[in-house]
Amino acid sequence: MGVLSDIREDLKFFGGFKLTFEHLTRPRVTRQYPEEKMPKQPRQHGRHVLNRYEDGMEKCIGCELCAGVCPADCIYVRGLDNPPDHPVSPGERYGYIYEINFLRCIHCDMCVEACPTEAITESKLFEFSFTNRADAIYTKNELLVGDDGKPKKLPWEDWREGTDLHTSGWMRATAPNGSAAYEGEVQWSGELGYGVRAPEGGQSGRRDDAATGTLALREVLEGHLLDEDIPLEHRGMRGRLWRAQLSAERNRRKMERARERFDDLRAARTEAKAKARTEAKAKGGRGGRGA
Ligand code: SF4
Ligand code: SF4
Repeated sequence: MGVLSDIREDLKFFGGFKLTFEHLTRPRVTRQYPEEKMPKQPRQHGRHVLNRYEDGMEKCIGCELCAGVCPADCIYVRGLDNPPDHPVSPGERYGYIYEINFLRCIHCDMCVEACPTEAITESKLFEFSFTNRADAIYTKNELLVGDDGKPKKLPWEDWREGTDLHTSGWMRATAPNGSAAYEGEVQWSGELGYGVRAPEGGQSGRRDDAATGTLALREVLEGHLLDEDIPLEHRGMRGRLWRAQLSAERNRRKMERARERFDDLRAARTEAKAKARTEAKAKGGRGGRGA
């Protein structure tokens, strides 16, 4: 008995690894940042953009509401009457000067919510730095979207795939009052390069993951949430099956990629061999004629 209880006492040591062993079977969330990044939330608050309507006109009407509401006092706007012969915006006035000081901005999005025309929104870009204070002040020239409707990618900014997507995510919220009954109701204007954006997924099952890109993030996070935070259909045995399916799908994609790489390699080798043969023949032919 004494020996058995000693052994049991010794085995308790492994109890300390319970959490470690549990995590061994969970999906990996560690990423090789910055090469590999987490999918970004549709409403992530990053560097601002000034939007334009589908016809190219600027949305900003120079009303200065964004500057008034900004708690960090980092927006400077000056409006000017639109020239009658070539108006810049559909309103009476347009934003003649527009500046944001990113050394002050806390990305609270209040400017975005205050804007009556959806002119100012935020991209997902948060990785940008400056070497002097003046560079931190973005002017209208830098904030205004380009002719394709996409944010301008400035040389010191680290833009990655997806950072410029869903730059107006907040506007696709379920409803102004948060009621799920209004989910999917479009209440926003079209944008240059995108048209009228797809409704964002909300509380109900009518999520538009393809349009708003939240699925990948949910898949990664759910493996690490508390049970009560996980949707019912992803808990317990059903959840395990769901995760196993995800894992199988990921492995299938990996295999496909590996097979494609292998095929490319084989094609490249065959091509190189054929080239070498042709060159050898050509040399042989020249040698024969020379003799
Ligand atoms: S996000 Fe907040 S702090 Fe930044 S400019 Fe807008 S209102 Fe100001
Ligand atoms: S961005 Fe919006 S709130 Fe700010 S000045 Fe322009 S129209 Fe007004």
